[in-house]
Amino acid sequence: MTIPGRTVTRVEIKPDRKAPCPCGSGRRYKSCCYARHRALENARGVARAGLGAIDEVLRVFLPLIESRGEHKIACHEGCNACCANFVRCSLPEALVVAEWLAEPEHAAVRSRFEAALPGWRAAAGADAAVIEDLLARHGGTPTEGPEWEDYSRIGLDYTRKRNLCPFNRDGRCEIYEVRPTICRAVHVVETEAYCTPDRGGVPKVASHPRLVEAVQQATAAFAHGARSLGTDGRERALPEAVATALALSGYSPG
Ligand code: SF4
Ligand code: SF4
Repeated sequence: MTIPGRTVTRVEIKPDRKAPCPCGSGRRYKSCCYARHRALENARGVARAGLGAIDEVLRVFLPLIESRGEHKIACHEGCNACCANFVRCSLPEALVVAEWLAEPEHAAVRSRFEAALPGWRAAAGADAAVIEDLLARHGGTPTEGPEWEDYSRIGLDYTRKRNLCPFNRDGRCEIYEVRPTICRAVHVVETEAYCTPDRGGVPKVASHPRLVEAVQQATAAFAHGARSLGTDGRERALPEAVATALALSGYSPG
């Protein structure tokens, strides 16, 4: 419900631990879904804290870049070449997105995501599995050698397909408020032209040791949070991670 001109604080009513579990199992909440719900809430808390720490660094860092007059931030609303990349995120970040999508005021965004997901999967095709497999074998993004060359080639081919993120609508990010680290922390400077492949250059990214540190700390905390939910802790393609998070949170059948 919206109260015009007023800020509304959302109050979550938590089930009584001794009451029947809301899942309908007939068992008490504390002996059924309680532990899983706490683990999910802890993971979301880890994600919110990490994303908040990154935002705090960006709040200081981004104005500094332009105020010195040396660089201009190229990223702007409606600029979306990067949304055709193979964007990945952790499970805790995806849980935050899932929680946001489950809010009644975001029902239309969620419906569009669920409608777009099969098309995204079809277009991603085998490339998605190949990229995930390469990253799993390497234990993360390769930075040199033949695996780096394979990763770069497949990633570039994927971007050329223009299989836009299902959260991109008419060029805009529909989940901007809860977008994952990669979409939040990377800022290209000077020109957006090189974010599109085959334009003769590579994007130049703004960086600072404090931003690198905030991203590294958040990423490590997200992986730990994902492992505490019994997963391998690895990132997944954003749409798949969000679909998993919606199902894990009990918001959809998966
Ligand atoms: S990363 Fe590149 S494509 Fe994405 S918003 Fe920034 S300039 Fe635009
Ligand atoms: S979450 Fe938003 S910014 Fe990130 S890839 Fe999707 S549409 Fe683009």
